[in-house]
Amino acid sequence: MATITSIDPTTEEVLARFEEDDEKLVEQRIAAARAAVGVLREAGFAKRAEWMRAAAELLDADADVLAGLITAEMGKPHAQARAEVHKSANAMRYYAEHAEEFLTGRSLDDPSVVGASRAGARYDPLGVVLAVMPWNYPIWQVIRFAAPALMAGNTGLLKHASNVPQAALYLSTLFERGGFPEGAFATLLISSSRVADVIRDPRVAAVTLTGSEGAGRSVGEAAGSVLKKAVLELGGSDPFVVMPSADIAAAAETAVRARTSNNGQACINAKRFIVHNDVYQEFTDAFVARMAALVVGNPMDPATEIGPLATASGRSDVEELVDDARAKGADVLTGGIRPAGPGFFYPPTVIANIDRDMRLFEEEAFGPVASVYRVSSLEEAFEVANALDFGLGSAFWSTDPAEITAAITGIESGAVFINGMTLSYPELPFGGIKRSGHGRELSIEGIREFCNLKTVWVA
Ligand code: NAP
Repeated sequence: MATITSIDPTTEEVLARFEEDDEKLVEQRIAAARAAVGVLREAGFAKRAEWMRAAAELLDADADVLAGLITAEMGKPHAQARAEVHKSANAMRYYAEHAEEFLTGRSLDDPSVVGASRAGARYDPLGVVLAVMPWNYPIWQVIRFAAPALMAGNTGLLKHASNVPQAALYLSTLFERGGFPEGAFATLLISSSRVADVIRDPRVAAVTLTGSEGAGRSVGEAAGSVLKKAVLELGGSDPFVVMPSADIAAAAETAVRARTSNNGQACINAKRFIVHNDVYQEFTDAFVARMAALVVGNPMDPATEIGPLATASGRSDVEELVDDARAKGADVLTGGIRPAGPGFFYPPTVIANIDRDMRLFEEEAFGPVASVYRVSSLEEAFEVANALDFGLGSAFWSTDPAEITAAITGIESGAVFINGMTLSYPELPFGGIKRSGHGRELSIEGIREFCNLKTVWVA
């Protein structure tokens, strides 16, 4: 079996090595997950909520140690890692509180219209759900799937990204520690080449993937080949539009956070800044000055605002996009040069004068690289915002009510945030359109994705 390695992106040191799970262990875990479906169903909402709350308490209690592990394994600033852990625990409590209400189902007021004495619809769990998850929010991405899935009565199997095996192993025992039965949730330490076999296993009912387009295609094809449900949360290159009536200082400050949170490696980071000509210079000057002043360094240092990118290949991908744009005539307003020394660091970078023949125009930059576009009208802003096949989040800055109304309907994306930045909340649905994927996570819609909406008709 191959080895899965945890590498500290700040120092490039190997932190730990793990043997991949062999076929026998994978088989045992799938069997246990299938066997636990009945146990979870029998337990009912109240018992599952009790276990979920207990697991949330454990997560909160582990926050400091776990945040250190996250930072060591993928490089985000420690304070952001700690916030991720607490946000995850809150989402667990949110679903413990609301799952029963979200899955209550409904009855017809007058069942005689369908010739029944009683008729309606109910939400049943689907069974075993496989989650294929990315490293960028190694706890949050998993919890936002697992909390609703388990509360609905499903069981979960996790195939986590290969560069975060320690986070994967922490999560493997969390739910059992909270009281969930054996098999309710487990990690499979396997490489991505073995994912399709798990999807095709008859005991696995559905799959959810958060990751790149390429992974989305593979997982979607495997699920399609056996006609199983798949939720796909893929990449994005979110627009952040700034119009003349906006508060430009606030827009520039928010733009920096929107582009660089999580070291610039979030699917919903704003990546393309589309700025009206009248305020282009003012916005760009403020934005570039703030980007250039960010503190890059060791993510365990509380002063650090940007740590290293998570992997060497991730940094090369970002670097190639910037080099391609520069070679084709774009202006690098700040950053753009890989620093010497150990660690997968890349500086906050702003690029302007981007043409459609540059890769940066249509590819996702998964690192702290911002593209700035100058437009001369609202229509042109929408045209640039909607020019890509991505459609995850978006932000729109203006104080003009007519423009705001136009943006809410006119921007093609799974979310639009007005005078703010795209974020995820347990209370709001999260997901994309076009090549950013399909299906929704979080909120009432997220818990219903992995349920069978069963029609019930009684004579
Ligand atoms: P990735 O390479 O696609 O990895 C994500 C997960 O998919 C990992 O567990 C990976 O396993 C697995 N995987 C990769 N190729 C696979 C294949 N052919 N078949 C089955 N599984 C496969 O993604 P990444 O580059 O690490 O993460 C960044 C991407 O995720 C970005 O595009 C980002 O925008 C997107 N993302 C989207 C959301 C969202 O909610 N829409 C959230 C976060 C990130 P291995 O590690 O073993 O390869």
